[in-house]
Amino acid sequence: MSGECDLIVIGAGPAGANAALVARQHGLRVVLIDEQPDAGGQVWRAPWPGLARDANAPEARDGDALRARLGASAVDCRFGRRVWSVTSGYRVDALGPDGNEAVCAPLLIAATGAHERVVPFPGWTLPGVIGLAAATVLLKSHLVLPGERVVVAGCGPLLAAVAAGIVKAGGEVVAIVDLAGPAEWLKAFPAMASRPRLLARGMGWALKLASKRVPVHFRYGIAAAEGEGQLERVRLVPVDEHGAPCAEPTLTLTSDALCIGHGLVPGAEITRLFRARHLYQPLRGGWVPELDGFGRTSVPGLLAIGDGAGLKGAAPAEIGGRIAGLAAAHDAGRLARDAFEQAAAPLLKQRENLAAFADASAGMMALRPAQVAAISPETIICRCEDVPRAEIDAAFAAGARDVNQLKHFTRCGMGPCQGRMCGDVAAQLLAAQVGSREAVGYWTGRPPLRPVGFEALIGSFSYDDIPIPKPAPL
Ligand SMILES: Cc1cc2nc3c(=O)[nH]c(=O)nc-3n(C[C@H](O)[C@H](O)[C@H](O)COP(=O)(O)OP(=O)(O)OC[C@H]3O[C@@H](n4cnc5c(N)ncnc54)[C@H](O)[C@@H]3O)c2cc1C
Repeated sequence: MSGECDLIVIGAGPAGANAALVARQHGLRVVLIDEQPDAGGQVWRAPWPGLARDANAPEARDGDALRARLGASAVDCRFGRRVWSVTSGYRVDALGPDGNEAVCAPLLIAATGAHERVVPFPGWTLPGVIGLAAATVLLKSHLVLPGERVVVAGCGPLLAAVAAGIVKAGGEVVAIVDLAGPAEWLKAFPAMASRPRLLARGMGWALKLASKRVPVHFRYGIAAAEGEGQLERVRLVPVDEHGAPCAEPTLTLTSDALCIGHGLVPGAEITRLFRARHLYQPLRGGWVPELDGFGRTSVPGLLAIGDGAGLKGAAPAEIGGRIAGLAAAHDAGRLARDAFEQAAAPLLKQRENLAAFADASAGMMALRPAQVAAISPETIICRCEDVPRAEIDAAFAAGARDVNQLKHFTRCGMGPCQGRMCGDVAAQLLAAQVGSREAVGYWTGRPPLRPVGFEALIGSFSYDDIPIPKPAPL
């Protein structure tokens, strides 16, 4: 892959794929890149080639429709490519089956989605403990159960989705452990009812789980995951309305898999890399790029859409993608202002109508600072670099006042995940001491955006081939 085009879109989920399709309809030469083998993103991900699946499931239908539209379009789809560098201009470097490939365009749309948040507890790094969102990947892409006796824990709508998926695939859910209580769900109900199709799906999951007599422990969290070399037991603890433990652990469940998630965090690495202006918005998952209504960031030519620009869910991501596709066409001079505004108006209205549902479900998944404050000193926060909470507190005592200093003091966030896993919690721990999330800021974006091997970038070589300059005469 090399060459030039009018627009590069990174991420072929609901947001990026729709942006690419709309921009292409207006005549732009569009390159759409994703590390997955096909389009669909996290929510509409296709099963791995060769695996059979339920083609009538709503997400499979939506995903297949999107893939068919892309297949019939002239969008230049480049899947199986992992973007590791984006530089001004814009030049995008991606590692694919044939090594590194580069493409350039004056316009770039970042549609890179979200990653999941797990608020650490003792034993969260044991084999057998996986993210709730990761469990959806196992179930949808690989058609694999996370374990034989699974505890599903955390918060938000993914709890029921994952538990129902496990039951549907023939697995056993030992229990659902929800930080929220029935009162929080009831409060969210009117907003959830604004999207009857999704509400009906949620109710369907609840009925299925009830028919299997899956116990639900409301207002409980995980005190510890325990086992010799792998998960054997999960200890539960009652929590208050802020998510903080409020009594001694009371229940122990025997289990070989724990799927746990405490919401999602926008994957805003590309806008951070370009120093676009960002805002801290807890309801949208954390730090998000400041946008105009059409997805444009504060950096000329750089747009950001979908969950990577603030959590709203799949349907708003899809519509936001179409709006950004129109904006890109307008900015490239292919769509006159009047036509652009006319085409965007109904989409903006549609997105507004989805706001109540998006806010309610994002609210259920928002970070609970009291839960973070209750993490014990010895609990590992950064699993790549083995940094416990005590080291983060010690770094503050030694003078670290923002997250980039924290990184230098502790190596927290310097491992292969580049802070995707620990960043939000580490920043929250520091912010509790410094005063605010705004004060501690966010980690600056840096290439490589994703782990890439040097060998893949530079190819194989022999040391004998490296020319060694003659020593300079004395
Ligand atoms: C792991 C996970 C599982 C989820 N499962 C569900 C679910 O089952 N149901 C649900 O309703 N919501 C789910 N969500 C939330 C869901 O992702 C969103 O609401 C929706 O998919 C957002 O669409 P999007 O287009 O913004 O991003 P996504 O759908 O996340 O698409 C982003 C795409 O960008 C690609 N990408 C990112 N970075 C790079 C890179 N450097 N190089 C190449 N490609 C890149 C990714 O491979 C991905 O395909 C999940 C989220 C996560 C993180």
